[in-house]
Amino acid sequence: MYYSDLVKYYEELEKTTKRLEKVEILSRLLNHTSADKLDSIIYLIRGKVFPDWDERKIGYSSRLILKAISSVTGINQNDVEKLWKKKGDLGSVVEELIKHKKQTTLSSKRLDVDKVINNLRKLSEMEGEGTVSKKVQLVSELISNANPKEAKFVVKTVLNELRVGVKEGIIRDSISRAFNADVKEVENAFNLTADYGEVAKLAKKNKLKSIEMSLGRPTKLMLAILVKDAKEGFEALRRPLQAEPKIDGFRVAVHKDKNNVRLFTRRMEEVTKQFPDIVEIVKEHVKTENCIIDCEAVGIDKKTGKHMAFQKISQRIKRKYDIEKMAKEFPVELNVFDVIYCNGKSLMNETLKERRKILEKIIEERKEKIVLTKKLISDDEKKINEFFKESLKEGNEGLMLKNIDSLYIPGRYVNGWCKLKNVLEPLDLVIIGAEFGDGKRAGWLSSFIVACRDKNKFLECGRVSTGIKEKEGQELTYKEMTKLLKPLIEKEEGKVVHVKPKIIIEVGYEEIQKSPTYSSGYALRFPRVLQIRTEKPLSEINTLSEIERVYKIQRGKR
Ligand code: AMP
Repeated sequence: MYYSDLVKYYEELEKTTKRLEKVEILSRLLNHTSADKLDSIIYLIRGKVFPDWDERKIGYSSRLILKAISSVTGINQNDVEKLWKKKGDLGSVVEELIKHKKQTTLSSKRLDVDKVINNLRKLSEMEGEGTVSKKVQLVSELISNANPKEAKFVVKTVLNELRVGVKEGIIRDSISRAFNADVKEVENAFNLTADYGEVAKLAKKNKLKSIEMSLGRPTKLMLAILVKDAKEGFEALRRPLQAEPKIDGFRVAVHKDKNNVRLFTRRMEEVTKQFPDIVEIVKEHVKTENCIIDCEAVGIDKKTGKHMAFQKISQRIKRKYDIEKMAKEFPVELNVFDVIYCNGKSLMNETLKERRKILEKIIEERKEKIVLTKKLISDDEKKINEFFKESLKEGNEGLMLKNIDSLYIPGRYVNGWCKLKNVLEPLDLVIIGAEFGDGKRAGWLSSFIVACRDKNKFLECGRVSTGIKEKEGQELTYKEMTKLLKPLIEKEEGKVVHVKPKIIIEVGYEEIQKSPTYSSGYALRFPRVLQIRTEKPLSEINTLSEIERVYKIQRGKR
């Protein structure tokens, strides 16, 4: 397939926000795609070149794109950068520059989808300094053979900025429509393969039913909905329910096949190499030939034996070198809470009660290495509240509440699992910087750097963008925010501006984490703008010590 054909579909998809129309367009594209290219098309339509769970990433910076554009067009990098600032995104920049270039250049090879995907896949294999010129060359080759529109979509894909509004649900429905397959079957196949590329191929051959869960291939995991208190938990789940501490580590699905152990995160990325310690623990203490167990790996303080906050061990997840040393310095304990496959058989259709029984048989508990999560089965709200407080005191995030009759269904379900966390008061913070946006938000400041106060200084504690709207209406829009902030700009660095601290906003969030990225040493998790606080003086915004206090409260350590 020519890349220009795919570009036509990108443009059609961009033009509509209607879900049904998107499904119609995408299913038409899938119908016109040969069986062997279905996976490539599925990845490219979402701006990817691998399935989501694959470890390999394109990993290309805006700087390199500037180089590539400059080398193809012969225009000085600074001038390209100026245009970037004006237009807001490099896709539109390259489109405009290639338009002018094409008037003088005649010879070029017509791009096909294979060429694009092959060059972009090669990028993911290149790391380190010596590879810069090769990386630039691979992308330059594509741009120089592209027409203006093709160039725009190539650049957006390379930068991981391609958005044509095709979420997983739309892919699922399009596969179902294109190949006349049952939607539930398509979804189920995806839950087991984590790869809509493969699902599309199987759907075309009418082989969806043949998919089975298999060891070594990541699957989607079960998730929880947030409830505000135990009462709401009981309303969603049946009585009695099973409460477990919500441990502050990271999710890991462990696939054991005899002595072959592989580890996958919640986003289905493989992390086996990063955790040789977990691999050894599993080999020794999981007493079954083969299984998939669902766990939370949590850092252990070597001195006290207590759990550590997630940020301390988060660095281990992406680590590529000194792995053994890190494993010694930051040991983890595996807290096992579920089993979804055992002795060659999927357990997804067994109840939690049954699965837990099996789990208790196959895990040989060893403190600080591998333990089952504590559990409390109760129909009494008071007992659950006490368990919640106890869990916070131990340094956990709260509780997971689980329906004991629930099957293992990947994704979030009202009657499956709920999470119960401490509700935290919003913070009043001041905006000290912002960044110009891309795409629909080009020309507007769309991401805001917020700070708390520490005596006379303002210290950053995160960036917030959620809560502001693109369209005009009653709520706060990017346009209004830009109008408020533009007169306060003191310095500009690329797309980032520093502003005089004046505009105070109320910010909601799920959690406060320690963070080396921001000068306060803290970061807000899932921040969202609630409102502008016009009535507040700067002297009354939240202080660093208040943020420290919330950080401690959320873990029950007042
Ligand atoms: P959240 O990330 O806030 O949506 O909470 C869900 C996450 O809590 C899961 O993905 C797990 O990583 C984590 N978690 C911690 N303890 C448990 C537990 N006992 N059962 C299930 N998930 C848990």
